[in-house]
Amino acid sequence: MSCPEDSVGSAGLCAPPSNEPPLFDFQVNGFAGVDFQRPDVSAPALEHAAAALRAHQVGCIFVTFITAPLEQLAQQLRRFELFREASPSLSAMIAGYHLEGPWLSPQPGYCGAHPPAHMHAPSIVEFETLQRAARGRIRLVTLAPEWAGSSEFITHLTARQVAVSLGHTNATERDIDAAIAAGARFCTHLGNAVPLVLPRHDNVVQQLLSRDELIACFIPDGLHLPRRVLQNFVRAKPPGRALFTTDAMAGAGAPAGNYTLGDLTVNVGADGIARNPGGGFAGSTLPPDDGVRRVAEYLALPPHEARRLWSTTAAAAFGVTLSAPSIS
Ligand SMILES: [Zn+2]
Repeated sequence: MSCPEDSVGSAGLCAPPSNEPPLFDFQVNGFAGVDFQRPDVSAPALEHAAAALRAHQVGCIFVTFITAPLEQLAQQLRRFELFREASPSLSAMIAGYHLEGPWLSPQPGYCGAHPPAHMHAPSIVEFETLQRAARGRIRLVTLAPEWAGSSEFITHLTARQVAVSLGHTNATERDIDAAIAAGARFCTHLGNAVPLVLPRHDNVVQQLLSRDELIACFIPDGLHLPRRVLQNFVRAKPPGRALFTTDAMAGAGAPAGNYTLGDLTVNVGADGIARNPGGGFAGSTLPPDDGVRRVAEYLALPPHEARRLWSTTAAAAFGVTLSAPSIS
């Protein structure tokens, strides 16, 4: 990992070009060979991942944990909070946590690379247990609103300023109506985590895409959504209702090879695709600064507009304060 020569700031860190705000990514499972989901992840490994993210112009992220047994998630949140407490660098990089599971759809295709055995209906008691472990820093929860009790759960999170995003879901129109009424505001990696073949009109991608109340989040690596599909999806949203994330896993910012995503072994091929053993995607290998470049290219946006979507616009949507890296 190294910085382009003209982007090394006075603190020796990579600064964004022209002193623009750094990038913010709200869905990062790992980076530079480091899997955030692993119970044996170490402080030096996290410092390595944070330095690599800074080299890719990232100011901060939501560390994202996927579906796992509840106690395992609680332990990982406690572990990360201890790492944050001991390190100004990690404290600055980790703006909060995104829980992507376990309150997702276990149906084939919709569950994606997550283990369905640990999925179940949302529980306020479980959420509060995890939020205590995270010292209040769970900022975003992805869930499938077809589970019973979702409305009460979303209302509870919304009242506590925790953003709710719909994803890994086969919700009906009525489920989505109820989720929006309760406070859901986002869609997680829309167009992914669905079966390869769907009813042509009546499917959850169309249902979610049509809802102007929801900000749709996309993975613009050219693989999760072919470029033309991304163009169509973004055009379907009103201005300001699309955001972008990498959904990066450990193989992002790292060479091809085998990595983990929790208990899964994920192979990253020379094509840059992170495949789970079943052959589906298991996160992306897209570095955030490459995401900015691709959004500009695929959507024919001026580079500064693409950058703003990945920085101040995304940060504002999730209530995150962005500041230039200042950790030496
Ligand atoms: Zn996912």
